[in-house]
Amino acid sequence: RASAQRIVEALEVLKATAAAHEEHFGRLDAAAGDGDHGQGMAYGTRGAAASGRDAAAQGAGARTVLLHAGDAWAEEAGGTSGALWGAALTAAGGVFDDAQSVTAGDVVRALAAGIGAIVRLGGAQPGDKTMVDAALPFRNALETEFGATSDLSGSVLKAAAVAREAAEATADITSRRGRSRILGEKSLGTPDPGAWSFSVLMEALGTFLQ
Ligand code: ADP
Ligand code: MG
Ligand code: MG
Repeated sequence: RASAQRIVEALEVLKATAAAHEEHFGRLDAAAGDGDHGQGMAYGTRGAAASGRDAAAQGAGARTVLLHAGDAWAEEAGGTSGALWGAALTAAGGVFDDAQSVTAGDVVRALAAGIGAIVRLGGAQPGDKTMVDAALPFRNALETEFGATSDLSGSVLKAAAVAREAAEATADITSRRGRSRILGEKSLGTPDPGAWSFSVLMEALGTFLQ
């Protein structure tokens, strides 16, 4: 179950990263939202790591670990982004097979499937000022880069840098989705918290994979 253990380690990295950025994520969300994005990400990643760890300790494989982690993330985080991240982990787990070890190509497919779930469930379009504005460019860059190099960590890091730029660019648009649509204009000048946190977590994942 080496792959399951490695997934648990990755979830621990996301947890530590979300905790380290909790205040900043919250401040971004306070500009036009309800200010709870830092707490949501901290609680969600903490729940996901704990639930994944428990499942792995009971002998679960990669798929089952991520299914449990996804449920826990949505439940512990509450909020829109928690539901979307939870669904993403569950969809990512669906790519894996409990009985087989995870390849680099599987990880790329799992990340793509997770982002697909965020788009499907959230229904946001590019330009709506949501995490989709970072996640879709991330997925495109990841698939292109991995296709060219087969270097997983390098591809994730490059795609995370693309996601960061895309997240920065959301500062220039007003939000039309989620809670902050009510306060649309107020979000001008501040990047979307979910897009920003997405890029931060993917950068941490890329570093972990090195
Ligand atoms: P809540 O809005 O419920 O307080 P969070 O503050 O944790 O939840 O998350 C807010 C983030 O969720 C937004 O910055 C945005 O990136 C993301 N989001 C909101 N609605 C959607 C949606 N329909 N599709 C994709 N992402 C969304
Ligand atoms: Mg919020
Ligand atoms: Mg909220």
